[in-house]
Amino acid sequence: MQSIMNTYGRLPVTFTAGSGSWVTDTEGRQYLDALSGIAVCGLGHAHPAVTQAIQEQAGQLIHTSNLYGISRQKELADALTNVSGMDNVFFSNSGAEANEAAIKMARKYGHQKGIHDPVIIVMTKAFHGRTMATLTATGNAKVQEGFGPLLSGFVRVPFMDLATLTAVAKANPNTVAVMLEPVQGEGGLATADADYLQGVRSLCDDLNLLMILDEIQTGNGRTGSYFCYQQFGFLPDVVTTAKGLGNGVPIGACLARGKAAEILQPGNHGSTYGGNPLACAAGVAVVNTIVNEKLSENAARMGDYLRAALRERLGQHPLFSEIRGRGLMIGVVLKQECPQLMAAALEKGILLNVTSGNVIRLLPPLNISEGEADKIVSLVGELVEALA
Ligand SMILES: *Cc1c(COP(=O)(O)O)cnc(C)c1O
Repeated sequence: MQSIMNTYGRLPVTFTAGSGSWVTDTEGRQYLDALSGIAVCGLGHAHPAVTQAIQEQAGQLIHTSNLYGISRQKELADALTNVSGMDNVFFSNSGAEANEAAIKMARKYGHQKGIHDPVIIVMTKAFHGRTMATLTATGNAKVQEGFGPLLSGFVRVPFMDLATLTAVAKANPNTVAVMLEPVQGEGGLATADADYLQGVRSLCDDLNLLMILDEIQTGNGRTGSYFCYQQFGFLPDVVTTAKGLGNGVPIGACLARGKAAEILQPGNHGSTYGGNPLACAAGVAVVNTIVNEKLSENAARMGDYLRAALRERLGQHPLFSEIRGRGLMIGVVLKQECPQLMAAALEKGILLNVTSGNVIRLLPPLNISEGEADKIVSLVGELVEALA
């Protein structure tokens, strides 16, 4: 029996080192990383600012506990509220935990209003995590299968359908929140447009619901602004993030604003590790680097560059359907399933991922160069051509 529990379908490769957009395997072979550990290493591998921050913090103080003040946590909370327009932050260790905090906030918000059976509206094809509450919120039967009974208090509507969302929210007086991703990273890169997101914001205002945005994957510069919602001129009540926030050091955050910022009170929620000095030192280095090196802007520019080049390369191919996403969150949608493509990509020396069966997902580092982007385009082009 293998000593690691068999929860992942892994490719037969192991990496020992990384630098920028490149990783090296145990045989010394180099691969172009167009996945960034699933949108985690946005600054690239072994970014000196993060390495130095972790090294210095490890030599000083790694952990005390949230029983005491944590100056690095305050520093990261200040940086995040500054960059986001939100009021305050709860720190967790992962994305799912950040969403758990958001879900608990929505439920308590309901109870405060006298709604003791609160309902959160979630979306088809959503992905919010693997804990019991977040897998209930997730719109994927495969993620849920075998883990019933799921939680009550979630109702699902079609993504990008404002009319149905409005009707469902108005029909149920127990509705307390709407939870959605601006770009569905696991759900095939379906991308919400400005009208829809602004419509959800207005609906939440009209009905006094919390608008919860899951920016675990879209946040931290990935889609061309620090958070994706910043491209649309509104603020959510709650936004969660994780992945790119620590560049590989586990950390998650649940940011709140206005009335939502005062829901959780001492004793309501907590985490032993959440926001510890080591994780927050990494987070501070990441936020400062994204802002100072204008990496959101680079993600917007390189995302446009990659999308145009991919369309040029693949647009006429019979298997090509469309390109989705925002910034450096890119989905190349094919007309047929292509699960074999991940292993084929590995052979060609590029790391990428296939989601929703037929969508090639590209999440390269935010500071990727034009030369590296060109290489992604030519390798993805060859991979698609080899499928036919
Ligand atoms: C990855 C992801 C999560 C879960 O984050 P974990 O850190 O794996 O718990 C939740 N929501 C979205 C949109 C994600 O991309």
